[in-house]
Amino acid sequence: MQAEIVILGSGTSMGVPTLGCTCAVCTSTDPRNRRMRPSIAVEWQWEGAPRRVLIDTGPDFREQALRSGVHHVDAVFYTHPHADHILGLDDLRPLSFRHRPNYLPLYADANTARILERVFEYTFSPASQYPTRARVQLFPIDGHDTTQVAGAAFQRVPLQHGNVEVSGFRFGNAAYLTDMKSIPDASLPLLEGLDVMILDALRPQEHPSHANLEEALHWVEVVKPRQAWFTHMSHEIDHEATEATFPPHVRLSYDGLRIPIEI
Ligand SMILES: [Zn+2]
Ligand SMILES: [Zn+2]
Repeated sequence: MQAEIVILGSGTSMGVPTLGCTCAVCTSTDPRNRRMRPSIAVEWQWEGAPRRVLIDTGPDFREQALRSGVHHVDAVFYTHPHADHILGLDDLRPLSFRHRPNYLPLYADANTARILERVFEYTFSPASQYPTRARVQLFPIDGHDTTQVAGAAFQRVPLQHGNVEVSGFRFGNAAYLTDMKSIPDASLPLLEGLDVMILDALRPQEHPSHANLEEALHWVEVVKPRQAWFTHMSHEIDHEATEATFPPHVRLSYDGLRIPIEI
């Protein structure tokens, strides 16, 4: 099936511009240097209806949904429980109400689910019964699990983000690998034959839990997708100047970018 990835946000945890900063990127007029917190939507048609999966709902989710016309969501996958990936969960409320009498499914590994349940206690705790809580239901994913959503398969790809194991996702000929420093050997076979790989590329300097530009280029060499797009970028990356240094099959993503894929 034909589908599209929508880059809802291409920025690092602090966003770009970064609060309190007046550097050249933070004050740039190039809209591609304005990066909201990292998230994507995957959109396709199935059984005559538009379908959409989100990967992460960060603190900018509401603005991103308004901007990119996210009026309906079929499922949400979470990569890991850091604030820049989960804090928009509560803004799923109006979209989740439309799933009545069912629930909007959320997929997360055990560690992420545990933290979601704690942070959004009034949403998940049966004891709280807060009347207008999001109608969401958590489902565990683990290892190389594959989850079916509206005719499309989403496979979990374990990644290493500092000392935390996080979830990347493979769907059709594409993969979304945010927040990672390295790809474990056992995950590499899951990434064979990719046309589109979106991956973490934080900044030029090294970082303990994120790939820097050099490491991201290394993973592109290892996985060999036809096209790679960098994401989770900080204000140390100027879009035009940085992209000009890369080969044509390595590009920087930007907020609102749509990438055609097959799922
Ligand atoms: Zn992050
Ligand atoms: Zn993170």
